[in-house]
Amino acid sequence: MEGRTEHTVSEFVACIECQSFSHSHVCIVTPDHPPMCGRERGQVKAAALFGATWHPYRRRGLKPRELREVVPKGRCLDPERGEYEGINEAARRLTDGVIQRVFLHSLSDFPHSSCGCFHYLAFRMSGRGIGVMHRGFEGQALNGETWDLPANRAGGKQADGITGLSAGYLRSAEFLKGDGGLVAVVWATEKAVEEFQDLPPSGFAAGRSRSGFCNSP
Ligand SMILES: [Zn+2]
Repeated sequence: MEGRTEHTVSEFVACIECQSFSHSHVCIVTPDHPPMCGRERGQVKAAALFGATWHPYRRRGLKPRELREVVPKGRCLDPERGEYEGINEAARRLTDGVIQRVFLHSLSDFPHSSCGCFHYLAFRMSGRGIGVMHRGFEGQALNGETWDLPANRAGGKQADGITGLSAGYLRSAEFLKGDGGLVAVVWATEKAVEEFQDLPPSGFAAGRSRSGFCNSP
């Protein structure tokens, strides 16, 4: 299982457990894109394959659906940004057409949607690069934003320029590959840096600033 990548498997997993409070969100789980809630990928896949009888709160008006399913990834439309035909189809179906396309590995145009469970947020800082903030960070990002702003911009939907993620995805070989990957990260909070600073080639020469860790090449 460890050796599996997005390119060697033919199926991913879709999870809509958070739709009760994140109306147009579907989480796509792949070997390189673990769930943003921090669950193990295998746990979510097992629940998709074998069914999970426990059904948490479901908002009235929400269609009764399986919370998780295995989805054929289909043809790869864009290997850099991580766009797959089968995943686009699943996202359209599971969000009743609100989400039309999903880029698993890019913040721009059609990034992965966010629920509310994300442990981190990655966001585009105009003209600068990517910022990464951990949940509940109390300082300010380089662009002056505090946690609440990006968290509300991301929460419950697909929003250009931002996505929720887990520590597992910060360490993924495919991490925002379509935007340049880890080397494109120009600012991150201390907790985020701890997750990826040992990874080659992050190029992240962390220099402490008042508000977080900045990349100072
Ligand atoms: Zn969630």
